[in-house]
Amino acid sequence: MKYLKLIQEAEALAAKCEKEESAVILLLEYVTHQSSTELYLHLYNEVPKDIYDTFYNLFNKYLYHNEPIQYLTGKSCFYGYDFKVTPDVLIPRYETEELVEQVLYRYDAHFKGQKVDVCDLATGSGCIGITLALEEKNMNVVATDISSAALAIAKENCKSLGASIEFLEGDMLEPVLNRKFDIFVSNPPYIPETEDVMALVKDNEPNLALFGGEDGLKFYRIILKDVGKVLKNKAIICFEHGYDKKDAMIALAKEYFPNSKVEVLKDLEGKDRMTFIYVGEWNV
Ligand code: GLN
Repeated sequence: MKYLKLIQEAEALAAKCEKEESAVILLLEYVTHQSSTELYLHLYNEVPKDIYDTFYNLFNKYLYHNEPIQYLTGKSCFYGYDFKVTPDVLIPRYETEELVEQVLYRYDAHFKGQKVDVCDLATGSGCIGITLALEEKNMNVVATDISSAALAIAKENCKSLGASIEFLEGDMLEPVLNRKFDIFVSNPPYIPETEDVMALVKDNEPNLALFGGEDGLKFYRIILKDVGKVLKNKAIICFEHGYDKKDAMIALAKEYFPNSKVEVLKDLEGKDRMTFIYVGEWNV
């Protein structure tokens, strides 16, 4: 069978199973050790039997056993970087790339050229903290997580991507209580416990990294209650959150930091997704 035929058949199968057709190319890239461009150049080549078998072995797990493609291939592309992912860490999402981008914009707008101390709380795969450090050399990043298994993956990612950041293990703010930051970023678990979550997500990704209490706001409350202790005189808190939490996030920000300026941003899907809280000596 030629690659073209394999791709067409597999994509049709994905559509029939109501799965992502894009999974086919991702998986073929992985199985053949080729980029999609290389694959497209060889569409009329015969598929070797071992490649065919390995492909379908994994593809069937995706189609019929509900396993995420990123866990099958062991990697996820985030901000152009390849991150290793295992079931110990959340698979990085597109929205989180937007959070990183917006944090970088705010660095440029308010701290450009200065060295800043940055905290990425609940780092998971390390995607936020590592990407920030790679994109902005003036960011001195500390990343934390409660899960030692997640931190082990984050450390591997840090090494393989050539970043240099510090990792601390512990619950919420506890490991950084003796530090002070200019920029505090977190994408904590934020799905309400009561929400229906698709099996692909709930049955595979670490539930510790998904659920944020009854209303999805548990971790923002815990953070906002004490984060003042770890902020410099002029600091920005940057959160990703659920699409329906704009008003709740503004209310929480104002509860803990009545004098702060609060900014809520939409993601590319037009959903309220990020909140930035300017704490301390700002003239904004
Ligand atoms: N910060 C990590 C990410 O954005 C993990 C988030 C989480 O575990 N909720 O992917």
